[in-house]
Amino acid sequence: MATKTIQEILPPPPPHMVGDGFRVHNFFPGGYDMDQKRMSPFFLLDYNSKIDFSARETPRGVGVHPHRGFETVTIAYKGKVAHHDSYGHSGVIGEGDVQWMTAGSGVLHKEYHDETYSKEGGPFQMVQLWVNLPAKDKMTEPKYQAITAMQMGKYEILDAGGGVDVIAGEFNSVKGPATTFSPIEVYNIRLKKNKSITLNLPENYNTALLVIEGEVQVNGSGTAPADNFVLFNNDGTEISLSASDDSIILVLSGLPIDEPIAAYGPFLMNTHEELQQAYDDLRKGKFGQLED
Ligand code: MN
Repeated sequence: MATKTIQEILPPPPPHMVGDGFRVHNFFPGGYDMDQKRMSPFFLLDYNSKIDFSARETPRGVGVHPHRGFETVTIAYKGKVAHHDSYGHSGVIGEGDVQWMTAGSGVLHKEYHDETYSKEGGPFQMVQLWVNLPAKDKMTEPKYQAITAMQMGKYEILDAGGGVDVIAGEFNSVKGPATTFSPIEVYNIRLKKNKSITLNLPENYNTALLVIEGEVQVNGSGTAPADNFVLFNNDGTEISLSASDDSIILVLSGLPIDEPIAAYGPFLMNTHEELQQAYDDLRKGKFGQLED
């Protein structure tokens, strides 16, 4: 089988703050000169690389804001995030857990450090992805999938060299619990030092890795240290990974959504008119109410 070759290994771009609670490296669409559809159906990747927040009584975070037309996927590696929305939903994304929120036709929400985490402080490490929705599903009803670490599909490497936690899609017949609107693969791979694994992903899927911990050799040639992003060409199916240290690797792969993109702020639509409609609806209170 042909190798999916590396296009680029990218170090984290300079971070910026989202509210006062998230210090993120935006790998795409803004961080590098990358086409808005280069990683479609993934539109945005914000990575809060591991930092220590000091203890604080009042949780840090980001206040009330809307979303429409896509899904936000929050993966907590260290620390905990609490969320509240305009439909009365709330919850806590614990360490190792994932929240897959379908904003669809629109929600207002706020995202803060969990109160107990905030009072103790300590290491904080998160990923937030924006996953585009096909045009026909952009106005779907908002919903949540709270996926705990235990609920993920578990593929164990037989010699105890680690395993694959499948969030969405399927790895070697092990399925992930997330339901998606287009074909998407999202996994966390845990590889012990000197262990290897091979991935097979369709040639036409846009595919990338983010090294969360450790360091990996990719396809026997490229070295990707922690916090680096590996972007693949759409030229083959096979990726081999071998860990030069105990590693955690986030895999993102999906069938591109070949539709126009109109993106502004918290909205991700197909046309300029739909963006204007989103701002109109927001002004008219159609996203509901939520207090800061
Ligand atoms: Mn948000």
